[in-house]
Formats: sequence, C-alpha cells, structure tokens
Amino acid sequence: MQQMVNGIFFGKAFGIPLRLHYSWFIVFALVTWALTVGYFPQVYPHWSTTTAIVAGLLTSLLFFGSVLAHELAHSLVAQAAGIRIHSITLFIFGGVSQMAEEPGRPQVEFRMALAGPATSLVIGGTFLALYFFLKDIPEFVRAMSFWLGWINLVLAGFNLIPGFPLDGGRVLRSLLWWHSGRLLSATRTASNIGRGVGYLFIFIGIGLIFYGSWLNGLWLAFIGWFLENAAATSYRQLALMDMLKGHTASELMTREWPAVPPHLTVQQLVHEQIFASGRRSFPVVDADKIVGLVTIHDVKSVPKEQWTYKTVSDIMTPASKLKSVEPNDDLGKVFRILTEHNVNQVPVIKNGNLLGMIARDSLLTFISIRS
Ligand SMILES: [Zn+2]
Repeated sequence: MQQMVNGIFFGKAFGIPLRLHYSWFIVFALVTWALTVGYFPQVYPHWSTTTAIVAGLLTSLLFFGSVLAHELAHSLVAQAAGIRIHSITLFIFGGVSQMAEEPGRPQVEFRMALAGPATSLVIGGTFLALYFFLKDIPEFVRAMSFWLGWINLVLAGFNLIPGFPLDGGRVLRSLLWWHSGRLLSATRTASNIGRGVGYLFIFIGIGLIFYGSWLNGLWLAFIGWFLENAAATSYRQLALMDMLKGHTASELMTREWPAVPPHLTVQQLVHEQIFASGRRSFPVVDADKIVGLVTIHDVKSVPKEQWTYKTVSDIMTPASKLKSVEPNDDLGKVFRILTEHNVNQVPVIKNGNLLGMIARDSLLTFISIRS
C-alpha cells in the first residue's frame, strides 16, 4: 500500500529511509504475544517457556522483515521507473511506501503493485520449502518456517484483493487505466470496490464479535474501516487534483496584498500593518524583489520588549526557505504546498519578483464552488 504515515527513523535500505510508526509497536507486541503465549505452546507443548519466547520474538521480527521486503519490492520497482520514494514506514496494518508522485503510466503502476505480493509469495514459498523439504533442521527452525511461510502467503493473498488502495486494487486500476486511458474513472471503479471490501470486512467483523470471536472480529472490522477510509480518501484526492489541474496559480492570486520593507521594526509591523489591515502575513519586499515572508506567528515568537529594535528581516522566513509557486504552476501544486507544509498562503514569484499571493481560504472557496 502507498499512503501517508509518519514514524521514527530506524535505518536506510537502497537509499530509502525506513521508519516505524508508533502503532507498529502495538502490533509487534500483539503478534509476539500471540505467538509466544498462544500459537507455539499450543502446537509444541513440550517446548520450554524460554524456547517459546525466543521463537515468538524471532518469528515476529522475521515477519516484519518480510513486510519490509514486500514494501522494498514496491519501492525498488518505482525507483527503477524514476519515481522518488520518500520513505517506507511500518505501521499497525503493515507497511507503506511514500512516493513523491503517483506513477504516470499504467504499465509502471502494474509492475509496481505486483512486485510486493510477488515478493511475499517467494518469501512464503521459501519458508514452506524449508519446512517441507529440510526435515533434518532443528524443530525450532522448522516451526518458525511453517508459520512464516503461511503468513507470507496470507499477506500476498490479502494484498491481492482487488480493492484500491490495496495492491490488487492498484493492479485492477492500472489495467482499467491501460484499457481506457482514463485514470480518474479507473480509480473510481477500483476505489469503489475497495470501499465495498472495507464494508464487507466491517460486516463480517461485527458478525465475529457476536459469535464470541471478539478479538478477531474487532481486528477485521478495524481493517475494514481503515480500508474504506483509505479508498474514499484516495479517490477524493485524485478527483481534486484532476479538477485543479487545468487551472493556474495566476488565476487565483491576488495582487492587492500589502508588502512590507525588511527594515521595518516589529513594533511598526504590528501597529501600522497588522492592526491597520487585519492581515496575518506580509511578503517582505526590497527593491522590487521578494526577500521573505513575515507572519503573525513570527511576531509571537519575539518577546514584546524586543519589538522596538528587532526588524522584520530578523524574524521573517527568508525567500530561500519559502515555499512558492510560479504563475503558470497548476493549482494542484498550490494545494500540495498548503497541505504538506501547513501554511496559510503561498507567494507567486517569477524571477524573484512577487506577482501575487494565494490565500488558503481563496483556494478552499475555489474548490467548494467547483465541486
Ligand atoms: Zn503491497
């Protein structure tokens, strides 16, 4: 799967940063616990507690190693097609690869989506072969191989369910897209199936809860809820980007946005500009070139005693660190900057000259009118 999740950095593989989301620790503990207290003692009652604990921990670690290999397979195919991968994050429902952009061609998405489940199949097959064909290896290793073999096959099977944004849903989308050439309608079909699968999981999960298998039921319903949400959100985002694509930043920018000079004191900024205009942010312009942006947040970070001698250039975000767009950039880029960097305005700049500003509110108004 490929979605947005944050987490703790723990290493790099093939140049891709690897992260653990906090929810991963919960599922790691749950899986280890289920193996140590439930599965191993039940199947191998003659094992000592220590053996069960060591096998549980090792199996759990290898399982999440397999999930990581699955995600790495997606990412390596993507990288080979020229798509940059921000990071891979393990979280409660498995792993996600965070791509800088969506694949531009259905053929790329097809290969990328299949690479993950194919890897899980190979890993699963290898572990099962160990179990079935190498009968002389220690029982401890065979026991782990058996469980890891099946869980990887389950992982491959689950991910191949044809509901977007699961891998199978991505495969389906790429085929529809390939066939019709229309990404948006292909996504709508695949994500509707994804939502249907989500509802089905919730339904079966609730059934299981009533029949006494409440932990499995809760888990399945939870996964269903997550799937339904992810499918609906992915489609909405794509539809939004599609709508914004035909429109440029210059259409929405306002030229009447007061600018301030860099040498203005914070005191003057507050009294002569913020209070007078009611605006919360000001581009800082010097000799017709934009040198930065100062906002009410920057002002709040300065103690009031320093307002008389600190200047706007001391507290502003310098132009080099500013997220800006060019007049011909499409509004999708504006939207991404506003949401990813959580800012309230985006300057429109050409050759260092400030042409205008786009406020978050005007983009939201634009979206609500069009949709
Ligand atoms: Zn996958």
